[in-house]
Amino acid sequence: MSNRINSITIIVIILIITGSYFNLTSLYYLIPIIILYIIVNIMGSTSIGLNYYFHSYSNASTTKKDIAITFDDGPHPHITPKLIELLDSHNVKATFFCIGKNVRAHPNIVVDIIDKGHLVGNHSYRHSKFFDLLSSKNMQKEMVETNQILESITGKSPKLFRPPFGITNPMLRKAISRTNMVSVGWSLRLFDTVKDPKNVIAKLVTNTKPGDVVLFHDTNKNILEIVEEYLLWLKKNDYKIVSLTSLLNIEAYED
Ligand SMILES: [Zn+2]
Repeated sequence: MSNRINSITIIVIILIITGSYFNLTSLYYLIPIIILYIIVNIMGSTSIGLNYYFHSYSNASTTKKDIAITFDDGPHPHITPKLIELLDSHNVKATFFCIGKNVRAHPNIVVDIIDKGHLVGNHSYRHSKFFDLLSSKNMQKEMVETNQILESITGKSPKLFRPPFGITNPMLRKAISRTNMVSVGWSLRLFDTVKDPKNVIAKLVTNTKPGDVVLFHDTNKNILEIVEEYLLWLKKNDYKIVSLTSLLNIEAYED
């Protein structure tokens, strides 16, 4: 939150002033303070669950065995349709955080996602590696562009935004507030795109807890195997997959 940043900045300034009062001859004491300040800011910007720059909905506080599952980076022309089929065969609803340019390339898949009762959210237009270096205006432009294309296909304008790579910063705080969107993080991710599927499944079943928002990618060629195993395990262990909006008590679309 901005209040927290302001208080950290004020504490750093007080430390600097106090230090200079007691030790005017040396400025070396500043080095650890500055390093600590940089580390805190890096951690705040790369750990979405810390809510450092702004609030993101990352899990629900509940003892009920309810969780929500989410898929980022699609729609993918081959994987997403198979995933929709798999989810449908288990009667499970998920949320797809789509990249605007992929939506433009594969609008029919987005129609199918909605038709099957899943939710759609915004995951930027280009998902550039440098998204977090954009100005707030350019971030806003990507968010608006993605919402416009999604609205033209589905008739609904998403309210949910998942920051690319989960990175947050003051520019994104401004863009989210100007677009009146809500930031959604996650509480469980297994780096499903880079790890061996068996490894991912083992970690999923060890770490799943009530109220989790689980992050997957529907661009991952192993996602069907992972999700199928996971759904069976959830069922066996009395977990229920609910919609992201009911888990977090938020709205998916503008009225
Ligand atoms: Zn992503």
